[in-house]
Amino acid sequence: MNTTDSIYERRESQARSYCRGMPATFTMARGSEITDDTGKTYIDFLAGCSSLNYGHNDPDMKAALIEHISNDGIAHGLDLHTNTKAAFLESFEQHILEPRGMDHRVMFTGPTGANAVEAAMKIARKVTGRTNVIAFTNGFHGVTSGALAATGNGYHRGGAGMSLNGVTRMPFDNYFPGQTDTAEFLDAMLSDKSGGIDAPAAILLETVQGEGGLNAASPEWVKRIAKLAKDHGALLIVDDVQAGCGRCGTFFSFEEMDVMPDIVTMAKSISGFGLPMAMLLVRPEYDIFGPAEHNGTFRGNTHAFVTARVAVEKFWADDSFQKELSEKSQMVHDALSDLAAMVPGAFLKGRGLMQGVDVGSGDLAGAICARAYENGLIIETSGSEDQVIKVLAPLTTPKDTLRKGFEILLAAATDILS
Ligand code: PMP
Repeated sequence: MNTTDSIYERRESQARSYCRGMPATFTMARGSEITDDTGKTYIDFLAGCSSLNYGHNDPDMKAALIEHISNDGIAHGLDLHTNTKAAFLESFEQHILEPRGMDHRVMFTGPTGANAVEAAMKIARKVTGRTNVIAFTNGFHGVTSGALAATGNGYHRGGAGMSLNGVTRMPFDNYFPGQTDTAEFLDAMLSDKSGGIDAPAAILLETVQGEGGLNAASPEWVKRIAKLAKDHGALLIVDDVQAGCGRCGTFFSFEEMDVMPDIVTMAKSISGFGLPMAMLLVRPEYDIFGPAEHNGTFRGNTHAFVTARVAVEKFWADDSFQKELSEKSQMVHDALSDLAAMVPGAFLKGRGLMQGVDVGSGDLAGAICARAYENGLIIETSGSEDQVIKVLAPLTTPKDTLRKGFEILLAAATDILS
């Protein structure tokens, strides 16, 4: 540890970040690998928490960005029409929306997932004239006050310093395994005239709860929730900030569930390159914001539009990438099954390239990840107790590198458990 020793030890109390758990200074990254200033290379199973689904420094995105900059292309366009925004929208419509039968409008928001969630909740409230939003236990939607109100995690909510209102959190799918059906429970609460739940503006959910520990809702449950939203006059908002952009094996996480959300939130990997960009997909009839009702200085990141267009065209213009994802998802499933078999009571969670293992304790999960880090693998935990070892490798990770990453992970588990 060179720079790390000299800078981060000194600044540990100031620079609060992953560097506490991963004490290196990273200097470059390519594809699914990242290198520190001592020349040590790590396999990246974190991928910017699903912001780097197409890997680090994809050469085609990089070339397009360099060309754009060297031609003095616009860097900041806010709401102006720009050629790069138009090109992205055209590609997104042609390759993503149209093939999926979606007539949703694209609305750019401030560049974070939280800002997209805020906008979605505001639209639902304006459309319905209601305040209450139903969200779920273990959901994570961001740390601005509205999104945080919807976040079902006491650890995150603890820092709010204020009461977080306007949201009712209900139990997610399979919250009481083998017992209460939570969709039925929600239906009963919504229909209860004695004072169940206030009529909701929206039901907001992740189909796989990324921060909440990779709880994957079943398609049947999501379909029933979608029907409940419709029956009760609420909008269905699917937060695809983490689970979208191919993470679950299809571009949208809900694609194979036979549901069509009224609003979809997108951020993280939508720019393709790790650049800040977020947006909503909104059914046309709900595109009702007047001027300045949800503005933001950085909602026109033109560099992000450049790389986002390349991502759409390079990875989603045909089916081949998606086919590869299904093979890699199986590999992740098989390797994690081996890990789960090593820990009594451990079990697999998630789907696609968003899977992990609940090892039952945050200390154990953390120790395994820390040992993996020493041996050249960057991997994190999630869940309310940080008890889930979570694999979020770039979707583009070559199969050999995936295998190597899992060898490191399994060896780390063997070390820690022995
Ligand atoms: N929604 C989901 C599902 C997320 O996983 C996250 C970030 N982890 C957010 C919203 C918030 O995104 P951001 O950190 O960009 O505000």
